[in-house]
Amino acid sequence: MRDFTTDHRWLSINTATVRKSRGVEVPLIDILDACAQRGIRAVAPWRDQVAAAGLANVARTLKAHGLELSGYCRGGMFPAADTAGLQAALDDNRRAVDEACTLGAPCLVLVVGGLPGALDGKAAHKNIALARSQVADGIASLLEYAHERSMPLSIEPLHPMYAADRACVNTLEQALDLCDALDPARSGALGVAVDLYHVWWDPKLQAQVQRAGQDRLHAFHVCDWLTPTTELLTDRGMMGDGIIDIRQARGWVEAQGFAGYSEVEIFSSTNWWQRDMGEVLDTCIARHRSAV
Ligand code: ZN
Repeated sequence: MRDFTTDHRWLSINTATVRKSRGVEVPLIDILDACAQRGIRAVAPWRDQVAAAGLANVARTLKAHGLELSGYCRGGMFPAADTAGLQAALDDNRRAVDEACTLGAPCLVLVVGGLPGALDGKAAHKNIALARSQVADGIASLLEYAHERSMPLSIEPLHPMYAADRACVNTLEQALDLCDALDPARSGALGVAVDLYHVWWDPKLQAQVQRAGQDRLHAFHVCDWLTPTTELLTDRGMMGDGIIDIRQARGWVEAQGFAGYSEVEIFSSTNWWQRDMGEVLDTCIARHRSAV
């Protein structure tokens, strides 16, 4: 297992972690500058942040700083209430693949979606099995497009509390079942993003990490689970402040040969997004050494 205690060369910052500084939205370019100043070597930007900054501008800035990506956030949201909606989702996902290619991402992370309309509080139906079959069809279709462009797709299982509105793929086992069904040859084109916030509780986690193997372990996301958690989406904790045994899980992933970045992804509306970006990044570096 790699020793993270003396440096932060394998730290990546998911740019949502510093989406806001003192409660104010931070332009992506400022985030990239601040990461580079601290010797952080990788980031995972979000599509909305890239769009606001301009794709070419972001690509140029990444190159100027020598910053790598640990992933691109995100594609997915496949289910829809009608054919036009399914097609629109697919079109948008293809654009996400193109952007990921432009940015030199190692993979496009997929948050697959849940019941159509649920995110806006108006679920079109209650058929989660239908949503799951639309997810499988959507990934299958996108996979052809992505494979031609050599952009791996990484399914991120989300905690079951998001099954209705964000992702009806909720365990690593479910994600790997999709990988087996859609890429039985294990071509490397389809794999998983293991985000400990979503999967730490799973009694099958270690076994499923072993099942995934190096070729399907595309990304590793860390933060912490706070007790109590006061908000479903934006109350993630800094590594070391919660109850996830991050180092144990990293050991399992690395035992399979994973040697990529440990990506810090914290959504925290009342704590970290209220602090200064520099303080948050410095804390990420310190906790990467002490708690990851
Ligand atoms: Zn994640």
